[in-house]
Amino acid sequence: MYETVIGLEVHVELLTSRKIFCSCSNSFGDGINTNCCEICTGLPGAVPVFNEECLEPAIKAGLVLGCRINEVTRFDRKNYFYPDLPKGYQISQLYVPLAVDGSVELKGRTVHIREIHMEDDAAKLMYEDGKTIVDYNRCGVPLAEIVTMPDLTCAEEVVEFLEIIRKDLRAAGVTDGKLEQGSMRVDVNLSVRKPGDPLGTRTEIKNLSSFKAVSKAIEQERNRQIGLIEQGLPVMQQTLGFNEQTYEISVKRTKENSNDYKYFPDPDIPPITVSREMVEAFRRKIPELPSVREKRLVSEYGLRPEDSATLVRSCDLADLFEASSKISRLPAVTLNLILSSIPSEGRLPSPEDLAFVAGLADSGKISSGMAKTILHETTVNGTDPRRYVEEQGFMMITDEDQIRSAVLKVLEDPSNGKAVEDLRNGKDKVLGYLLGKVMRELKGRADPVLARKVLCDNVLQKSDE
Ligand code: ADP
Ligand code: MG
Ligand code: ZN
Repeated sequence: MYETVIGLEVHVELLTSRKIFCSCSNSFGDGINTNCCEICTGLPGAVPVFNEECLEPAIKAGLVLGCRINEVTRFDRKNYFYPDLPKGYQISQLYVPLAVDGSVELKGRTVHIREIHMEDDAAKLMYEDGKTIVDYNRCGVPLAEIVTMPDLTCAEEVVEFLEIIRKDLRAAGVTDGKLEQGSMRVDVNLSVRKPGDPLGTRTEIKNLSSFKAVSKAIEQERNRQIGLIEQGLPVMQQTLGFNEQTYEISVKRTKENSNDYKYFPDPDIPPITVSREMVEAFRRKIPELPSVREKRLVSEYGLRPEDSATLVRSCDLADLFEASSKISRLPAVTLNLILSSIPSEGRLPSPEDLAFVAGLADSGKISSGMAKTILHETTVNGTDPRRYVEEQGFMMITDEDQIRSAVLKVLEDPSNGKAVEDLRNGKDKVLGYLLGKVMRELKGRADPVLARKVLCDNVLQKSDE
């Protein structure tokens, strides 16, 4: 049996208006090579200047992931050649990264964050009809690279980790986290070992851009390494590519170490001082994180974790839930109404209006169908639910006699003869049809459970006669 050991390097694009070392626009989807200048395309003699706007999202990333923020941080050159890197080096941070020593709590494990550093993105290469197109718009887009310790042990944990940081970083305004646009890209470092053995040799699978690809790549690479070991072959420290269509792993290069990059402090960019006041000011601007809120809704309102997660996915819904539940003190009913009775086409109801409807629903005065109708009126047509209920006499009819007379009327109506006959012969499918007729008689206000019972009772009675 083998254990899998995984450490991640996650690149997130920072939400800024400009690139990291020049004043080109940092926006996605503009025409190819329209957002470039001599700095981000690395022309000789051009001098990069650090865009301080990057500090806010980058420092927030550190705070969100529980890191300590260094008081002075520096940029270093990482030298290598690739067609997507026109200046021949990446400006990154090796010696004094912005943030260090963080952690993220999963359900069953703590993942330690070794560091978060800032760096510039490379160009985007696109392969078409045997040609390579280089889009330099992405050159110089500010990135935060999040490096974890090798604390993860399987694909499920990795995806859980990525989902948590994606939600929290988005909520804090660090990144838009759009995997499909490359705003979040994952490198998976993976090794296997027998329990108790020292760490095995790892490989690095670069640039995965969906959680599915991450899972598949982990599964494949784990099996590949175990296969090698079982055959008595060594696992080589390599950088791998993963084809997200065919799920094939390919060797890109046999892994370099950091000394292959001849890192040195970038002489163009002075060290950056990060004042404690600045850090605290950014900390105050971070809202309650989704991961924290999910747990709080569970403990404070007794929600199931999956319902809490559904609510928190939309900040507006979670806010509405909390505000309305505080008024009505009916969190379970409120949750139900939010998840099943608010029409998608309208606005959200106010917390007070929702609390009013929750109160009616809880007291049994209205059915869930009526709750839905009232909320539809309120959110789509802007009607005050109190007035609407009053005007419509919109209270559930629970008087059995009143329901019975409607049932009898329906049963005796000759146009329903066939349906009644079918029901008597045990064709339950027509029950809904007849129940609908009864409801129409009572303008949709009959207690649906009672109406069903009275209808069934009467049909059976008649057939006994
Ligand atoms: P490098 O400096 O060569 O990039 P690092 O030590 O920075 O290597 O590690 C890069 C990533 O690889 C980190 O996420 C780390 O957790 C992970 N890692 C390191 N050693 C192993 C290993 N033996 N197995 C799996 N992951 C590892
Ligand atoms: Mg590294
Ligand atoms: Zn530029």
